[in-house]
Amino acid sequence: MKSRKRIFIGLISFSLLLLFGILAFSWHLFFKSTDTYQQIVVIAIIAIFCSILLIMGFGIGGLVFALVKERNMPPILQNIMLLAVNTLFPVALYIGRILGIDKHIIKSSFIEVNNQLVKCNRLTISPEKIMILAPHCLQKSDCPHKITIESANCIRCGQCPVDDLHGIAQKYGVKLVIASGGTLARKFIEQARPKAVIAIACERDLTSGIKDSKPLPVLGILNIRPEGPCFNTLVSLKAVEEAIEFFLHKGANNVVSFPLTQNQKPLN
Ligand code: SF4
Repeated sequence: MKSRKRIFIGLISFSLLLLFGILAFSWHLFFKSTDTYQQIVVIAIIAIFCSILLIMGFGIGGLVFALVKERNMPPILQNIMLLAVNTLFPVALYIGRILGIDKHIIKSSFIEVNNQLVKCNRLTISPEKIMILAPHCLQKSDCPHKITIESANCIRCGQCPVDDLHGIAQKYGVKLVIASGGTLARKFIEQARPKAVIAIACERDLTSGIKDSKPLPVLGILNIRPEGPCFNTLVSLKAVEEAIEFFLHKGANNVVSFPLTQNQKPLN
């Protein structure tokens, strides 16, 4: 498992241990100071929380196994893994902040874990069921064409990556949509009902989008921000093509290299 993925796995594991610690401390605190009837209530409550934490521990174990062995997991275990990730992620972010770990690094680690898990599924999806979901900030800031409702409004002048994405979408026969935010992105997904999404965005939007879209397989690709966030951003076209080819199952044996870090240059 690569070190970047270990950050997320390490933090959610630590979060789980912390919650177990809080539970043990609560037991110690409340059990002694209550009468017999209240003790039964405390035991019942702690037993319920303990069971939930054990299930999440099982989910983390499944996550590590899937990542190390690069194996797909049964649906029930995938749901437990999802429960563990969704529940422990906010705690992991909080612990990361205390430890001085940049939240972008933690989110980027989560995106890599997600991508690896998606790659564990041996998916073969027809091109018309694959959607490229790109952010509005890829569009050149002074472009007058409104492309968020209809991406085809782009006249393909070649001045921003939207032109290249149109070229890729045409080449593979996949759908391209440009969203100005999470609400519009969700609307596009509800309308088109794709079977797989290649999402391009920053760490924050990718993290929330991936979590909101489950169980839909989403491969996340970080955008590149040479002029700062949300302004004239770029994307690695190579990473987009690799993601499409993975879903088409043409590139199942390829090493898929997304998401890119901020230091990597886009390949135009
Ligand atoms: S490629 Fe399309 S979106 Fe980009 S600047 Fe030209 S017309 Fe606007």
